[in-house]
Amino acid sequence: MDGQIHEECGLIGLFGVDGAASLAALGLHALQHRGQESAGIATSNAGKLHLVKGMGLVSALFSKGETGQLPGDAAIGHVRYSTAGGSNFANAQPLLGRYTGGEAALAHNGNLAWAARLQRDLCASGALFQTTADSEIFLHLLAREQAVDDEAIARVFSLAGPAFSVVLLLADRLIAARDPYGYRPLVLGRSGSGWVVASETCAFDQIGADYEREIEPGEMLVVSSAGCRSLDFAGIRPRPARCLLELIYFARPDSLVFGETPHLFRQRCGRLLAAEQPAHVDIVVPIPDSGMSAAMGYAAALNIPWERGLIRNHYVGRSFISPGQEARVAAVRMKNNVVGEVVKGRRVVLVDDSLIRGTTTQTLGHVLRKAGAREVHMRIACPPTRYPCSYGVDFPRHEELLAHKFSLGQIREKLNLDSLGYLSLQGMTGLFGEKSDTFCTSCWSGEYRVHPE
Ligand code: SF4
Repeated sequence: MDGQIHEECGLIGLFGVDGAASLAALGLHALQHRGQESAGIATSNAGKLHLVKGMGLVSALFSKGETGQLPGDAAIGHVRYSTAGGSNFANAQPLLGRYTGGEAALAHNGNLAWAARLQRDLCASGALFQTTADSEIFLHLLAREQAVDDEAIARVFSLAGPAFSVVLLLADRLIAARDPYGYRPLVLGRSGSGWVVASETCAFDQIGADYEREIEPGEMLVVSSAGCRSLDFAGIRPRPARCLLELIYFARPDSLVFGETPHLFRQRCGRLLAAEQPAHVDIVVPIPDSGMSAAMGYAAALNIPWERGLIRNHYVGRSFISPGQEARVAAVRMKNNVVGEVVKGRRVVLVDDSLIRGTTTQTLGHVLRKAGAREVHMRIACPPTRYPCSYGVDFPRHEELLAHKFSLGQIREKLNLDSLGYLSLQGMTGLFGEKSDTFCTSCWSGEYRVHPE
């Protein structure tokens, strides 16, 4: 990733687990890559909900025993990047509300494509929004539908429309749901006799929970003292549209997402990229850390060594997570340094998993040449990203997308490269065989399954 698109959010939920808040905080540490603007945890104890949330990293918010203020054996947690609504405390999640059914805390990953229409309808019937986050719509739908029993709560999810993965904490229940297209991931696990859900399995690894299965698109799970109950709120399920960028970039390489290990998938993309776009060079250099897996596959397929010719400063953070273009550019400058002795006198191919705005990569060609590289090529292990996303990833405007603004030849010149090549869409989806049409590819194809309303 050229570091210039925004992540969405990360979720965790626990029920029937001692020390639920502490484990939620640990799990959120593992999910921190999904959002760094704000974090929060809500717990349920003796019929009452408790909430701690704030701006910043999980380590800053939950390092001084804050989880001690969160009693109970049921919890939900959230890390956020603002893909809808601003970056401020009011929008930090979990969101807490009170309705006919009592208190409810909610955490959401995704963007509601129908948010504008739903918000208009809700306001017209008297709703007063407290935040600018589309996630608040769920709380208003809960209130309007007077959704107390499980079936009524399921109706709320059928009304919301994609894209969402959600955890909802009530006094006596944990609810987890995933929209009928399954845009965003959500997995189910066990922790002792209790239950855990999370955006990615890396959260389970962190807290010693065991992975059970994916929560299905259109499925709502109700976890209570009676056990775990599955409801289908979608009726006839559409063909899934799981976000392929999760596997290409967002998800941690060591997670299990949509049944795939991202590290291995990215390696396969790298191998295919080598077949489609070989480069005649001396070394393969991954753009750290995002291009590592694809570069390994690319190098192995061409039988060329890969070298750490760029070193990332890990203390800068993922630049795309910094809101605002100025902050991003400054972060990029601090981010990567060239290992001069590795690239000097050599023909180099840089490999990354994707190239969106180009802010991170725009100076690399120049910097590598300055360090003595004889040739600088670039290969991208996904197709050119030309279209915006409406489902929870923040590259909302066409004009921000490098491949929308410029031809490939222009991009090559702009980045000061000897050659530039992308993986084909057909090749990439073909890696899934008969499941190739179960992924969202809108940001590459421009074909949208669900239209914003
Ligand atoms: S448009 Fe792209 S980023 Fe958005 S959900 Fe689809 S694949 Fe993911």
